[in-house]
Amino acid sequence: MQDFHVVIIGAGLGGLCLAQGLKRAGISFDVYERDAAPDSRLQGYRIRIDAEGQRALAACIPQELFALFRATASLNASSGRFVTPQLLPIEGRTPASWDMGEDDDIGDLSVNRQTFREILLAGIEENVHFGHELKSYRCFEDGSVSVSLEGLPLVSCDLLVGADGVNSRVRRQLAPYAEPRDTGSICIYGKMELPLAEGCDLLSDGTTVVFADGCTAIFDLMHFDDDFSTLASRFAPGCNLTPMSDYLYWALIGPRQRLGLEKYDHVQDLPVLLTNAMRGWHPGIRQVISRSNPTDVAALPIRSGRPDALWSFGAVTLLGDAIHAMSPAGGLGANTTLEDARVLAEILSDARSQARSANIAMLDYEADMRDRASRAIDASERGAAMLFENLA
Ligand SMILES: Cc1cc2nc3c(=O)[nH]c(=O)nc-3n(C[C@H](O)[C@H](O)[C@H](O)COP(=O)(O)OP(=O)(O)OC[C@H]3O[C@@H](n4cnc5c(N)ncnc54)[C@H](O)[C@@H]3O)c2cc1C
Repeated sequence: MQDFHVVIIGAGLGGLCLAQGLKRAGISFDVYERDAAPDSRLQGYRIRIDAEGQRALAACIPQELFALFRATASLNASSGRFVTPQLLPIEGRTPASWDMGEDDDIGDLSVNRQTFREILLAGIEENVHFGHELKSYRCFEDGSVSVSLEGLPLVSCDLLVGADGVNSRVRRQLAPYAEPRDTGSICIYGKMELPLAEGCDLLSDGTTVVFADGCTAIFDLMHFDDDFSTLASRFAPGCNLTPMSDYLYWALIGPRQRLGLEKYDHVQDLPVLLTNAMRGWHPGIRQVISRSNPTDVAALPIRSGRPDALWSFGAVTLLGDAIHAMSPAGGLGANTTLEDARVLAEILSDARSQARSANIAMLDYEADMRDRASRAIDASERGAAMLFENLA
């Protein structure tokens, strides 16, 4: 048995899932997160976790937390309809990676992102340190890594994992040439509290995907089975979940120019700007966007990572959006990230029990991740092309 200590940068979905997998394998770890607290910034709202993501999660987190994860998913997530901007039925434009639940025994689950993160944090709170941004790291000849973090003396470890998202500092130091490319598209997302105003209620049935000329809008009713404290006490007592009411999630995705958002720094104006880009759309859809509270709305440029980039052999690696950011059009970013976490935890667990070098074991993880992530990016780009097609 060979012991090593892993430092993970970033307590997002990938960093926390890896931490859970390492805990399960009995490997020592610490996670350092830049944000002051788990809820200190808008996390996003609904996220769809597919069969592969669910299997990866089940392999990393305790059974009772997985049961709670499933129980907190929105009901009827799989029912979906595809419509024109006037809400007329349309067919044949869904990206291949979307599972609307027709023929798989494990359908996608729509979960609230903040709740998901709280579940991933349960049981590892003592090893997750908030308010400590990574500044830089340094590798030594004896194989150790020294990590410089805001507000802490230097931290030493045997392995460093950059799970610090699309603007990863670990990546900038390890592989500066692997900066993700700006695709020129943008995703704007928000939510509307229920009950929906009259005229918007046609969006209150599961998932609605609106295919328009050159862009796509998605609406997903997040309707939970019970209040989260009741579900937590039933499935995983001791796990604290922030209360969450039902809501309507929406996201609009397309080239910046199509959405009239070449500059998108005036977040307060977003709902109004968007309704201009949606002239001629059904009034119910326009109302959902225009009546959303601007503080609940966010915009993110869509970037595409470079998982094919190679970096020097050693004790530092990358996971999730830090190396393979991709368009949300495929619904694959988090799912690929959860599988990264599962594979890395499993490979490190084997290395530990076989007294094999963890650095060499990480090469196996990187080869697997590069292959999977490149395929996911291709699928996401195909999905984006399909969603941004002009209507014939
Ligand atoms: C609108 C939208 C909808 C999406 N929907 C889906 C979906 O339905 N299904 C799906 O599979 N994917 C979806 N995705 C993609 C998914 O959100 C990401 O792929 C996933 O969150 C990546 O997880 P991560 O842990 O790699 O990065 P993140 O979740 O970004 O976490 C990175 C963490 O690192 C921290 N950090 C950053 N820098 C530092 C630093 N220097 N020091 C310390 N900490 C740092 C950040 O604060 C953050 O907490 C969507 C994305 C968007 C934008």
